[in-house]
Amino acid sequence: MRHVPALILAIASVLTLAMHDPLFAEVDPAAPVKPDPCAGDASKLGVSRTVEIDTTGGADVGGDKSDAKHFLNDGEVVLTFDDGPLKSDTRPILKALADQCTKATFFMVGQMALADPEMVKEVAAGGNTVGTHTWSHKNIRAISFAKAQQEIESAVSTVSKAKGTPVAPLFRFPYLNATKQTDAYLKSRNIGAVWIDIDSKDYRTRSPKVVEQNILSQLAKEKKGIILMHDIHAWTAAQLPDLLKELHDRGYKVVHLVPKTQAETVASYDAAAEKALAAKAAAKAANPMASRSIVWPLSPAPGTTVASVSAPEPRHKRTWRYRKVGTKRTVAADTSDDSAPAKIPVAKYRKGAKPKDDTSPWQIFN
Ligand SMILES: [Zn+2]
Repeated sequence: MRHVPALILAIASVLTLAMHDPLFAEVDPAAPVKPDPCAGDASKLGVSRTVEIDTTGGADVGGDKSDAKHFLNDGEVVLTFDDGPLKSDTRPILKALADQCTKATFFMVGQMALADPEMVKEVAAGGNTVGTHTWSHKNIRAISFAKAQQEIESAVSTVSKAKGTPVAPLFRFPYLNATKQTDAYLKSRNIGAVWIDIDSKDYRTRSPKVVEQNILSQLAKEKKGIILMHDIHAWTAAQLPDLLKELHDRGYKVVHLVPKTQAETVASYDAAAEKALAAKAAAKAANPMASRSIVWPLSPAPGTTVASVSAPEPRHKRTWRYRKVGTKRTVAADTSDDSAPAKIPVAKYRKGAKPKDDTSPWQIFN
């Protein structure tokens, strides 16, 4: 038995080697093992596949445009949320998505991102794709091309700066209204326009059940599609856990859209966005409870693509969709009909929704 000490030594040296071998180095015995709760869990909706979109030279994604890119097979859906972020609704939506291990694309309004940059980060941290939806939800067909450029670029820069990294070069037109000029502009900026196939019509109801049924009944007919919802409605957030469960139980698969490259921002708008976000943070630090209004310090630098843009004019009285309501909800309900025809939905705006000091579209009320 005199070989026993030698054997012990040999085992000990193998163990010592193992501890220093890089193959073993990744496992830290002190660190708690975090299993991926989503891995291979068939009881969850999950993400069936990820589609990378190359927006070089622009792209029309989904919808019924003749040259649109279609990539969904029967039974596949893409989840999209417009108009936020708005914490009271965006956060429960993020939870519902995470609970089902699934992901969505959020088309954010620049003003909303400026009002709550932390929510922009939360949405991105959940692995969701963040695109943009103009600075202040203007109907592009109702404003000048110069102003449309401002609307697009202000959102791309502000949401990017709020997020901390560039947004996806994916854009959704408010009211799904585009013009030839803005189409060409997006192409020149390598930004893709994402259209819709299934409309939740969550701007026409306050019933979670109706929202869910709108989606499921259209899906039953169309078999697949990009689904439009809005993360500024409590009823949309309320129906989501049930909708996701139904999608799972009925065998639908979620496709996650991701961009091939990130959006390129315009320096002058970046500078303005940084200034606005800093002012916002300073105002919050100074008085966290105060109701605030911040003026977007837009001053395009000479020589940039926006140099010829004139100062914003107070000509949007009929399209205000944000209003000051104490310190709670900041968005007027039922005003986000993204599938409305090409006109400003005047009738939908509540009387008195226009802020008193509505002198510039570059103001944010929260
Ligand atoms: Zn919208």
